[in-house]
Amino acid sequence: MPKVQTVRPLHPTTVSPRVLGAAFGVVATLLLLAYLVAFDQGAVSQSGMFLHELMHDGRHLLGVPCH
Ligand SMILES: [Zn+2]
Repeated sequence: MPKVQTVRPLHPTTVSPRVLGAAFGVVATLLLLAYLVAFDQGAVSQSGMFLHELMHDGRHLLGVPCH
């Protein structure tokens, strides 16, 4: 009877909690950034242009020419 040899995967399938936490942080940051940009462009906001004006003033404070 031939001997059965088990094969171990080269890369383990478990993910360390640190990597999982870092990935979650990156995804949450990108989602927040997308939300802020959408809010700034008026795609999300139903209550006016407050955030748009805030970011506009921020651009002026940084010296970015816009108009
Ligand atoms: Zn301006």
